[in-house]
Amino acid sequence: MIEARHIERMKRLVEYTASSFGTPFPSPFGSAVYDAQTGLLLSQAYDAVMRECDPTQHAELNAIRQATQQRRQLSLAGCILYSTCEPCPMCMSACIWAELDAVVFGASTLEDANPYWPQASDISPQELVARMRREPQCLIIPHVERARCQALFKQCDAVRSARRLELPPHRDDAV
Ligand SMILES: [Zn+2]
Repeated sequence: MIEARHIERMKRLVEYTASSFGTPFPSPFGSAVYDAQTGLLLSQAYDAVMRECDPTQHAELNAIRQATQQRRQLSLAGCILYSTCEPCPMCMSACIWAELDAVVFGASTLEDANPYWPQASDISPQELVARMRREPQCLIIPHVERARCQALFKQCDAVRSARRLELPPHRDDAV
């Protein structure tokens, strides 16, 4: 049973992420960090890989950076990260370094995202968490509002092709 707060926050994150469709760089990837105690939204970000020409500017990394800079502290212990898509190994490692309590995600990287945004690796967040040296390990809550998050990929692709925008990185064919 998925907690109502996770569903509510993921719905809000999907809405926020869809607002990128009106920008020059539409993206289906969005991430947010909440304080688990107070329920306060600390940060919210899109993926900015194409906008910044930076392969590390995934949504999760951008949300983590915003949250730590805002709080002026390295640890996000006591916080939960939400992502419209399962974090890649780079982002999941960052979540572990940031000491987040939990990661909640919607779509799957390989099953849902990969046909639209080809993925560079198949290491799952759970595999990385299993190798964590700190206790308690980061909790992974998968597939929250998965259908809504899957729809973001489809919608983003439609927006991109309607506006004849550049294909996502590593894509050389149309879906
Ligand atoms: Zn990532």
